[in-house]
Amino acid sequence: MTVVVRFPPSPTGFLHIGGARTALFNWLYSKKYKGRFVLRIEDTDLERSTEQSVQAIFDGLEWLQLDYDDGPYFQTKRMDRYREVIDQLIERGQAYYCYCSKEELDELRTQQREQGLKPRYDGRCRQRSPVPDVQPVVRFKNPLEGEVIFDDQVKGKIEISNTELDDLIIARSDGVPTYNLTVVVDDMDMGITHVIRGDDHVNNTPKQINILKALGVSPPIYAHVPMILGQDGKRMSKRHGAVSVTEYRDQGYLPHALLNYLVRLGWSHGDQELFTLNEMIELFDIKDVHKSAAVFDPEKLLWVNYEYIKSSTVEDLKQHATRHFSDAGITVDSMDNWKDILGINQDRSKTLVELVQRSRFFYIPPEEYDQKAVKKHFKAPALQTLKSLRDQLAGLDTWEAESVHGAVHKIADQMNLKLGQVAQPLRVAVAGVPVSPPIDATLTILGQEETDRRLHKAIEFIEQNVQ
Ligand code: GLU
Repeated sequence: MTVVVRFPPSPTGFLHIGGARTALFNWLYSKKYKGRFVLRIEDTDLERSTEQSVQAIFDGLEWLQLDYDDGPYFQTKRMDRYREVIDQLIERGQAYYCYCSKEELDELRTQQREQGLKPRYDGRCRQRSPVPDVQPVVRFKNPLEGEVIFDDQVKGKIEISNTELDDLIIARSDGVPTYNLTVVVDDMDMGITHVIRGDDHVNNTPKQINILKALGVSPPIYAHVPMILGQDGKRMSKRHGAVSVTEYRDQGYLPHALLNYLVRLGWSHGDQELFTLNEMIELFDIKDVHKSAAVFDPEKLLWVNYEYIKSSTVEDLKQHATRHFSDAGITVDSMDNWKDILGINQDRSKTLVELVQRSRFFYIPPEEYDQKAVKKHFKAPALQTLKSLRDQLAGLDTWEAESVHGAVHKIADQMNLKLGQVAQPLRVAVAGVPVSPPIDATLTILGQEETDRRLHKAIEFIEQNVQ
């Protein structure tokens, strides 16, 4: 049997963290069993679905490189098919028109409450003749007896008595099919073998199984994945930080780092934290997903991202960081030694945005100097230090870490200064701030001429601004 899974988001917002994890679990499952991954856009709610949300879902999946084998299908393009199935169910006596007015249903509910019963539709229209001038809804004839039993791959055996379920509406009075109907028709038509989804849908499953059975189809295997909670134990929402996948992209996360973090939300393999994609595919199994809810920890995500940035090749970093560099007006390979720039900063940067901040001064000379740094490191004595340094550096025949290192030490010795008293003004002069990778490596990458130009500018600045 070929495994066929699906990701069916409703395009009523961006692709959020929970949706991305569901997509990932399905994707991994399809890869593991060499199956197919179907993308289906559940856009029947015309009031809430938007084009932008559809695009945001595509963008999110593309960025995460969760590719699909089939689709995207749009439910709005399949309305005739849903109608066909609804008519078929009516013809076979498995569904019926319901003419109950809102008032009638309200009254039924009140009565049931008064009698201490759980409010549910009592099936009175199963026998009713058409009521003139009323646009009826269509209800599914749920079996009156027996049980729905399914073996959830995460939660274990789930059993629910049919007396707990009522005749659910499968088409509204305007003819629009409801979620439970469209999902069933699609899962059937698309040959879905495994439904892996959030456990907010677990209550829909018995209803969907009953409809599938009425249609003569055996239900897929279900796996309901627990929710993602914020650290306060409440369901993950905006309050807990970014929830949209593309926001993480914009904040400088690597797609694989996010995937790695997401796979561990509710699943584990011993105490291993970092997984290559192939390891994820090999080791992940839906049966091993935890029963309890997972807690989203932004600090851990940041750590995972840092680990990925550190171990990336510079070519990969370049590919992912290009959008962030261009946001800062920088073309990464406009410097011949861009590999050295990324290489020297990668084990200091927790995000790609930070990587850009740390790399920026290599590309763009400081337009101004950090004010605090000026006060601290550009005091009057720094003028002579920088002048001597400039001469010393300009006179070097070879420009490499060792010779630069030697020059900085020589000036410190000659002027009887601590190394920091030389290196810090020099840093501010070349970087604008007193933070940079080791100064010898920094200057080596910057080049002899550029270092000289920046020292010259800093000297002028001190002469004009510091007494
Ligand atoms: N469109 C539904 C949602 O986004 C999908 C539910 C399902 O997987 O059946 O929640």
